[in-house]
Amino acid sequence: MFNLNELVRPNIRDLVPYSSARDEFKGTARVYLDANENSLGSPLMKWYNRYPDPLQWAIKEKLSLIKGVDPRHIFLGNGSDECIDVLIRTFCEPGIDNIVLVPPTYGMYEVSASINNVKVKKVPLTADFQLDLPALEEAVDDFTKMIFLCSPNNPTGNSLDRGAVEALLNNYFGLVVIDEAYINFSRQRSFVADLAEYPNLVVLQTLSKAWGLAALRVGMAFSSAEIIGLMNKVKPPYNINQASQDLVLKALDEVEQVNEMIRVLVQERQRLEKELPGLPVVQKVFPSDANFLLVKVADARRVYEYLLNKGIVVRDRSSVVLCEDSLRITIGTEAENTELLDALKQFN
Ligand code: PMP
Repeated sequence: MFNLNELVRPNIRDLVPYSSARDEFKGTARVYLDANENSLGSPLMKWYNRYPDPLQWAIKEKLSLIKGVDPRHIFLGNGSDECIDVLIRTFCEPGIDNIVLVPPTYGMYEVSASINNVKVKKVPLTADFQLDLPALEEAVDDFTKMIFLCSPNNPTGNSLDRGAVEALLNNYFGLVVIDEAYINFSRQRSFVADLAEYPNLVVLQTLSKAWGLAALRVGMAFSSAEIIGLMNKVKPPYNINQASQDLVLKALDEVEQVNEMIRVLVQERQRLEKELPGLPVVQKVFPSDANFLLVKVADARRVYEYLLNKGIVVRDRSSVVLCEDSLRITIGTEAENTELLDALKQFN
């Protein structure tokens, strides 16, 4: 059975986290002499001399309405990259525990694990980029603290079969982390709706993709209040700065504008999905639920260099398992996509 107390690192379970001045004092006062800030002000706006809310409640309240999740089930990180790192540091004992990855997938899971001296076990996806459940069952051992899944997956673009993910959630009693960075570009239902059902589920999302806020560095983890509480103990106290918090609060009012951008990007993705396969240089366009396409070509290195010569930079994923001779191409503006198509048409 799932047992959070056994899963978490003992030092984190027993940790008394840093308590910031603003954490200890929750009321309103007139005179703040508790945090050694600059009482005179700042060269910028008035409130930038003060430390930000460590738990970012104003943002979580707004996200709660958008996502249909209680604010206590939300963790905010300095990008979802920080959520990944905090998860690993909360649950994995360096040199002892391991995580399981399903390549080809997002690179930071392995980098974060390696920085923390946490072993990585790899169970490649099948040829159609789906989970290999028997191999996963084989790979998991008593020291496997979490399995990272990415759906829609980077760099392949496809969503993982829902039934297979549910099978993992039901049969594996470590954490199942589902990275949904690209979920807004897909028709799949988010696993955020299933949090109550699975105590071992962590869903990651980000404001860096559909929301168009990559520069602000804000990522989200959704999970049980207990898991979120542990992650809050581990994160740096002020991990989301006040400038980002201010701008995110403003941006979260623009759901309609974001939905319109998603609509345009999906439409552009469909145009590229239709037109790219007709070009001699293109061998295969993999189906995508994201804002990028994985495209197999005859000689990826040559095509990459050719495009670069024309000022167009894409990502060569040839070195990645199951992605031989494949380029990952982000969906651009209509004009950028047309420029890409024209350039590829002229390749010989
Ligand atoms: N997860 C996936 C699958 C990604 O592709 C990326 C960004 N490339 C991230 C997480 C990290 O996003 P963030 O900007 O929120 O750190």
